[in-house]
Amino acid sequence: MTAPSGVATTLDLIGNTPLVLLKGPSAAAGCEIWGKCEFANPGASVKDRAALWIVRDAEARGTLKPGGTIVEGTAGNTGIGLALVANALGYKTVIVMPETQSREKMDTLRALGAELVLVPAAPFSNPGHFVHTSRRLAEETDGAVWANQFDNIANRKAHIEGTAPEIWEQMEHRIDGFTCAAGTGGTIAGVGLGLKAFDETIRIALTDPHGAALYNYYACGELRAEGSSVAEGIGQGRITANLDGAPIDTQFRISDEEGLEWVARLLAEEGLCLGLSSGINVAGAVALGRQLVADGRKAPRVATILCDTGFRYLSTLYNPEWLRAKNLPVFPWLA
Ligand code: PMP
Repeated sequence: MTAPSGVATTLDLIGNTPLVLLKGPSAAAGCEIWGKCEFANPGASVKDRAALWIVRDAEARGTLKPGGTIVEGTAGNTGIGLALVANALGYKTVIVMPETQSREKMDTLRALGAELVLVPAAPFSNPGHFVHTSRRLAEETDGAVWANQFDNIANRKAHIEGTAPEIWEQMEHRIDGFTCAAGTGGTIAGVGLGLKAFDETIRIALTDPHGAALYNYYACGELRAEGSSVAEGIGQGRITANLDGAPIDTQFRISDEEGLEWVARLLAEEGLCLGLSSGINVAGAVALGRQLVADGRKAPRVATILCDTGFRYLSTLYNPEWLRAKNLPVFPWLA
């Protein structure tokens, strides 16, 4: 049965997020910069989309059976999305997360009913890395599937089939550029492939944080990381299956300081409370807008992703002591 609102089940609340014009970034770029409000998803992040597509894919393949368990390694947001989707469909969730992630994400996962397994942060080459730990746990658990968001391309399909057509329609088929950062790469690759299918002249830019290897990969073919970042959920050191074949035309590298400046401005000037990956994406969108203007595109229009809510980072990004300990600037109204 479809309700008068057109929403049939609680899972239909995932996606179809609003797109808003960002005033400050548009003024800074000299062209229109639009933000896709992914914090408006039920789990308050872009990762609800990947969670839903991964679960539906596992059901369709027959690997996830009624009452089964979904196991995943995640920086947090995918776990939150999976826990909500699992609750709605009668599955259990086991979430493996590095202990360096925000307290709010851990509390949220426990509150949603997920079984939370914390592991020390480790390089990907270490068998104790959260991704490998989650794979082993899935193998050892009866009736469990491993969501495998990094290399399961049901993740990017969520953006090819959902996010990209939504942006295309919301921008009334007039869009010149899209950019965002990569964690799994599902968003940048999926939106990039989806938008290029509508109009191949749309410029797709990767916005990389410091400490990630993709900027150098797309700039000169070498996976090499420099510096570091405190941004959660983004920063990749390898070409995941989701990134494989991503149509990246250009790339930007954005510092935490620059991303934080946009987080502060978007909150103070536009009333949007966001996480750092959103600030880094907006900084990248401003850079892409300026580049398109410089290249002579007439009144270009750029879109990016506002990935998650800032309420998830009250103990970190919005906490003066935490920021000072990381040598990062404190928002003026908190200083
Ligand atoms: N921002 C945040 C806050 C995230 O949790 C993630 C997901 N890891 C991303 C951005 C990046 O999304 P994707 O995995 O699709 O690259």
